[in-house]
Amino acid sequence: MLTIHRTEREFDHLGEFFDLIGPERTRRLHDAAAEIARRLDGGTLWHVNSTAAGGGVAEMLHILLPLYRSLGVRAGWLVVGGDGRFFEVTKRLGTALYGSPGDGGPLGPAEQTAYLDVLSANAGETRELLGRRDILLLHDHQTAGLVEILGGEVSAVYWRCHVGVDEEGPASDAAWDFLAPFLSGARGLVFSVPWHVPRRLGDHRVEIVPPFVSPFSAKNRVLDEGDVRTCLAHCGLSAPTAGPPARGPLRALRHPVRLVAEGTPNPGEPSLVQVSRWDRLKDMDGVLAAFAAHVEKGYLTLAGPDPLGIQDDVEQGVWFDRCLAAWRELPPATRRRVGLLCLPMADLEENALLVNALQRSADVVVQKSLAEGFGLTVTEAMWKSRVVVASAVGGIREQITHGENGLLVADPADLSGFGTLLARVAAGEVDTGGMGARARLKVLRDFLPDREVIGTARLLDDR
Ligand code: UDP
Repeated sequence: MLTIHRTEREFDHLGEFFDLIGPERTRRLHDAAAEIARRLDGGTLWHVNSTAAGGGVAEMLHILLPLYRSLGVRAGWLVVGGDGRFFEVTKRLGTALYGSPGDGGPLGPAEQTAYLDVLSANAGETRELLGRRDILLLHDHQTAGLVEILGGEVSAVYWRCHVGVDEEGPASDAAWDFLAPFLSGARGLVFSVPWHVPRRLGDHRVEIVPPFVSPFSAKNRVLDEGDVRTCLAHCGLSAPTAGPPARGPLRALRHPVRLVAEGTPNPGEPSLVQVSRWDRLKDMDGVLAAFAAHVEKGYLTLAGPDPLGIQDDVEQGVWFDRCLAAWRELPPATRRRVGLLCLPMADLEENALLVNALQRSADVVVQKSLAEGFGLTVTEAMWKSRVVVASAVGGIREQITHGENGLLVADPADLSGFGTLLARVAAGEVDTGGMGARARLKVLRDFLPDREVIGTARLLDDR
């Protein structure tokens, strides 16, 4: 049930990374790593979450483990497993933490039992593994119950929350009623942005540590124009490229991509892209409606994981089908300017390359979320110097300053405001000069992995 990841890999391009952040930040990174190693005193820092692939946390841990290894910190990663009932409860909790009642089901004693039974079973498998000097950093609501269950086995347990609401309400209250009692034994809590810390946890030690992207991962590394074209052709969004067969990392392009489209982007016309899970909160159908009603020129690509390849989140199929139905209803001329793209998930490197190329190919990257924890897709696009048009929710507000390094729409439910802004940007009526460059600078300053290591050193420095 429990899966253990220890990496033998070092962080790719460490030297280049040091060059990128400069000597002063490199020194602080080394100091922070030494601090963490000292605090561990021979123990291991275990990150614990509930999935090894898909989603922002897994994305970060795949980068962080090799980085810790390269910096001389012993770190590991445990992935808790669960049954259908466990994931039903945690999905309900996650939705409620975003302020939505979701399926409306209860979060009472029966759900608590189902949740704790699974976590206790997972904990049973760690007995041989965990040592007295180890430290646990638990991620998100799926693992919060382990604070108590494993607290006595290790030196300290911390809990990190990657989601949240901008304003607390009945749904988020219900989620915190469920979670807060588990957290009393945590030595410290971590949130991505300050306004996601619920009032009732105000007495805990809290650190704010934002997520990060790696400039050298398949998702973000530089792709030249030819590589981008090859990826788009693989997606069916441009004519097949002539020339030698795919080389280097592009050899990963092996699995078919499902594209629902009757036309492809017109070179010379603006291309708009949103990459997201097919989820109510990502509002893909809202983007489609706003584009169809307001943007007269250009092409919109909505891209997400192929729902056929996702076992643990059946709702994605439902939300994709809604987009498909809305797409079918579009007037033919508009339908030819919208493509729905289902990216294969069989090979994560391939998936990441396709996301990378789609973001790079876009004139405008859209993220019209109704709620957001942090919004790594925004960070990824900003790193690629794209102009991002997004709703002002969650961590997106931390990343984008409107008019400075991107564009924000204040009310996420304001379809016409969003559509009008998209239309003006697509028509070149908004001065976006320098916005992409400033977006990249923001990420360089605040959202690279050294910030994570430094934040963790601060968190652990509590004795
Ligand atoms: N993502 C991906 N393939 C997809 C759709 C999304 O790799 O088909 C990635 C995306 O690039 C980002 C992560 O999934 O790295 C989503 O993180 P974000 O914080 O934006 O939203 P979440 O899905 O965690 O709510």
